[in-house]
Amino acid sequence: MIVAIDGPSGAGKSSVSKLVATELGFSCLDTGAMYRSIAWQAVHDGVALDDADALGEIARTYDIGFTHEPGNPSPIGVSIGGEDVTLAIRTAEIDRAVSPVSAVPAVREALVAQQQRIGRSGNYVVEGRDIGTVVFPDAEVKVFLTASDEARARRRVLQNEQRGVGSTDFDEVLADIIRRDEYDSSRAASPLKPAEDAVHVDSSDMTIDEVVACICDLARKAQEG
Ligand code: C5P
Repeated sequence: MIVAIDGPSGAGKSSVSKLVATELGFSCLDTGAMYRSIAWQAVHDGVALDDADALGEIARTYDIGFTHEPGNPSPIGVSIGGEDVTLAIRTAEIDRAVSPVSAVPAVREALVAQQQRIGRSGNYVVEGRDIGTVVFPDAEVKVFLTASDEARARRRVLQNEQRGVGSTDFDEVLADIIRRDEYDSSRAASPLKPAEDAVHVDSSDMTIDEVVACICDLARKAQEG
C-alpha cells in the first residue's frame, strides 16, 4: 500500500510521514531529499543550475542511497555517489538551489523512476509534491497537507534549530518557503498541486498527533477496503 503525502514546504510532511510510517509499520520515502541530493551534487560539481542537460546527467548517473538502522522504518541518512549528505542537503544554499534543479524534466524522469521502484517494493509512506498526481496516481491514500505560511515558517525554524543546520531567521525562512512554493507551483513539469482525489488536511491549528491520527485512520479504512 502507498500512502502519498504531498504539500508545500514546511507543512510538516517529514515529521508526519515518519510517525505515520512507524504507527502503520510501513517504510518511509522522502522524495525531497532525493531532489536536494541532486542539487547538492550539482553545486559540488560546479554545474550551472540552468544547465538542464548536465543536471539530467547527474540524476541518471549518481546513485542516491538511504541509510537505515534496525527497527526504524525511516532512513537516518542519505548519500549520493557514496558521499553522506544527510546534513549538507539542508543548508540555505541547497534550499535556494533545489527548485530550479527539480524543475528540469530529465531530473524528474530519473528520480520518479527510482521512487516508483522503491515504493513498489513494499508498504510505503511517500512524501513530496507530485506523489499523488504523478509518481503514484493509484496510491490507496492521498493526503494534501497544508498550513498557513507563518505556521510553516515557525516549524521550519524550529526544525533547523534542532538539526543545527539551515537558517533560523524567521523572516528569511518565511521568504524562502513562499519563493519555493511559487516556483514549485508554477513550473511546467509536475507542478505542486493536489490530486483531485486527495484529502486536504490543514495542520495550522492541529497538533502533530492529531494529523498523524487522521492519516492513520484514512490508511486503516483503505486497508479494510
Ligand atoms: O520536501 P523538501 O522541502 O525537502 O523538498 C525540496 C524541494 O524538492 C522542493 O522545494 C521541490 O522543489 C522539490 N521536490 C519536488 N518534487 C517532490 C519533492 C520535492 O519537486 N516530489
